[in-house]
Amino acid sequence: MVIFFVPAVTVSAETPVSGRTIMLDAGHGGFDPGAINPRTSVAEKWINLAVVHRLKDKLEIDGATVLLTRNDDPFVGLKERAALSNMLGPDVFVSVHHNSSGSPDSNGTETYWTNQNSYALADSLNSSLVQNMHTINRGTQKRDFAVTRLTNAPAALTEASFITSDAESNAFINLDRVEQEATGLQEGLINYFANQN
Ligand SMILES: [Zn+2]
Repeated sequence: MVIFFVPAVTVSAETPVSGRTIMLDAGHGGFDPGAINPRTSVAEKWINLAVVHRLKDKLEIDGATVLLTRNDDPFVGLKERAALSNMLGPDVFVSVHHNSSGSPDSNGTETYWTNQNSYALADSLNSSLVQNMHTINRGTQKRDFAVTRLTNAPAALTEASFITSDAESNAFINLDRVEQEATGLQEGLINYFANQN
């Protein structure tokens, strides 16, 4: 007699982020639009939120629990964002922003960190964003931003590209850039957790 074993539950593939809790922080919101492209009128707060929503979907498919500091368009203070993270205790905190410059030609990716426990996360996210978005690598920098300084979990603030670049802001409107950036952040998180232990 042959006995077939049929598993009762279909388990999705294990990934390095499975079982991890990741807090995503879409920068700005409400009366604070963040940077605005004066020619296309694209505001940073909406691009930050679009990337966070896309990334959340991807990470949940990968088995992570995803927490958000804002899911829509309220104003949330910087200290409030860090306090929320410290109360809920995620494994990492990722703040998603986009850069601005007076020159429409400025572009590229940079990622900030403050506390020593955050460098590896910032480095992994920055590399993966550059690879997926084919941007100029402006590197990781230590900066004293409130959300990265006050958060206990390893915390990075990404500026994947410049909202003040017209080509960039138009690509975001078409959503293909949102997808590329979310994939860059997803892979950066997978690589980061793959190198933990
Ligand atoms: Zn910003």
